[in-house]
Amino acid sequence: MDISGRTRVCGLLANPVEHTLSPVLHNTLAEKTGINLVYVPFKPEVENLGTAVEGAYSLNVLGLNVSIPFKQEVMKYLVDIDKSAKDIGAVNTLVRTEGGFKGYNTDISGLKKAFLSEGIQIKGQKIILLGAGGAAKAIAYLMALEGASKVYILNRTYGRAAVIAKEINECFAMDHVIPLALEDYRKLPKDSYLGIQTTSVGMHPNVEHAVVEDPEFYKLLHTAYDIIYTPAETKFMKYTKEAGGRAYNGLKMLLYQGVVAYELWNQTQVGQEVVDLVYKRMEQELRK
Ligand code: NAP
Repeated sequence: MDISGRTRVCGLLANPVEHTLSPVLHNTLAEKTGINLVYVPFKPEVENLGTAVEGAYSLNVLGLNVSIPFKQEVMKYLVDIDKSAKDIGAVNTLVRTEGGFKGYNTDISGLKKAFLSEGIQIKGQKIILLGAGGAAKAIAYLMALEGASKVYILNRTYGRAAVIAKEINECFAMDHVIPLALEDYRKLPKDSYLGIQTTSVGMHPNVEHAVVEDPEFYKLLHTAYDIIYTPAETKFMKYTKEAGGRAYNGLKMLLYQGVVAYELWNQTQVGQEVVDLVYKRMEQELRK
């Protein structure tokens, strides 16, 4: 990589930041699109987030990704926020504009592109969403936006599922989103669902677990999408396949949220060939 006086800097604000795949993703994008850009990890202390964002702007940083624990807190330090990011109350991408950074949530557009690339339809689908954390809220929003016919949110802590369901129903003036306690999965109407797994259960190193262990549950799913990508095949995916469904991991969601951020920073469109190459490189990195 040739660093010169024209090299632009992008990066990730997260704490911890050490295990991120984003530098591989964005530096490969820069290499393959021929844009003179370097992407680096930044690890501000929680109490220094404001000065980190202001400092990055003063240093002419082109754009930033934002991850745990800063996705909500960072909104205070922005000059503008895109509507969908404002609706869900979380920002994962900062784009340099006149006077400060503007916030976006590319997890939403990234998952939409990931579903498209895997051939997973949202419109008219009945969805089971497992989990009610930050990722689940963005996904519930996308499902409502794209016309899912029902979204059941199941969570260990029922109250968190209820809050998300209420907020999304209010946002879209509808009543399609229904909260349930996780152990109440047996109360789901017998039907064929797209299941989206957003809890941290099953993620490396706890690879021997799925958030629901009952094989009967998996007979409800025609398709499973686990937003976890380590391991490449989670227990949730394995159980779905054993019950006859299709299953995908979350690496494409991560890939496309990055591609959308990169396109915003550089006002460019990344071709599919480059996207496929970046995906391969991310897979290689995970195998290391
Ligand atoms: P979060 O806000 O901390 O939410 C965690 C969720 O997992 C909550 O619903 C929590 O339930 C549930 N949970 C945790 N331990 C559990 C257990 N033992 N049994 C049942 N439920 C349990 O996290 P997040 O930001 O939404 O992220 C969730 C996962 O998605 C992480 O593994 C993250 O790495 C992954 N992720 C992937 C992508 C991608 O691009 N592929 C993007 C974002 C996140 P309670 O409410 O009951 O605590």
